[in-house]
Amino acid sequence: MILILLGAPGAGKGTQAQNLTKSRGLVQLSTGDMLRSAVANKTEVGLRAKTAMDAGELVSDEIVIAIIADRIEEDDCKKGFILDGFPRNVAQAEALDAMLAEKGMKLTGVVEIAVDDEALVSRITGRYTCAGCNAGFHDEFKKPQVDGVCDSCGGTEFIRRKDDNEETVVSRLKAYHDQTAPLLPYYKERGVLLKVDGMVGINDVTRQMNEALDNL
Ligand code: AMP
Repeated sequence: MILILLGAPGAGKGTQAQNLTKSRGLVQLSTGDMLRSAVANKTEVGLRAKTAMDAGELVSDEIVIAIIADRIEEDDCKKGFILDGFPRNVAQAEALDAMLAEKGMKLTGVVEIAVDDEALVSRITGRYTCAGCNAGFHDEFKKPQVDGVCDSCGGTEFIRRKDDNEETVVSRLKAYHDQTAPLLPYYKERGVLLKVDGMVGINDVTRQMNEALDNL
């Protein structure tokens, strides 16, 4: 199964992708996570991507397409994968179509997680992840069961993304509406677009997601 999760920043793509990795044994490919790791490790890609990421703008297509092309060659992607944060514009979607065609692979579906813009700022500014296992939490919507302890790995160190602040969110939302939203008609025309309501609780979104995928 090859899935794309589409939605504005803060819609819940990462959370739902993590759920699907557990329930369906798919690998989560998050270009945002890969780029953040490149920035932290000060690799050449990281140094090239950092300015755009800090400003909430998109990193160049050339960089992200190369990252995904390399990553899907790895063995763990053979059984299927979930793309979280890629493609982000039509040029990336066309590049993905070409990559999959070349490998004889087929896109199973694209799930749009639809959320109102007004809900996104509080979702983004309140979120944080476990430094050890990357599990996602939120100050209001998903607190750890034991305060300060990760539910998944027991870690006690948490991190907040540098770009999860109110100013950068505005640029990220603009990038989503200008460049990523045109992917909705792109995939609708191809008959692969599914939609779930992302305004409900995390478990309800997961339930809708599973129903949509089971009906594919
Ligand atoms: P995300 O974690 O998906 O919100 O991505 C964080 C940041 O990484 C974005 O604001 C972009 O600067 C960059 N980024 C992630 N994925 C892509 C992509 N497919 N194309 C361009 N930039 C990306």
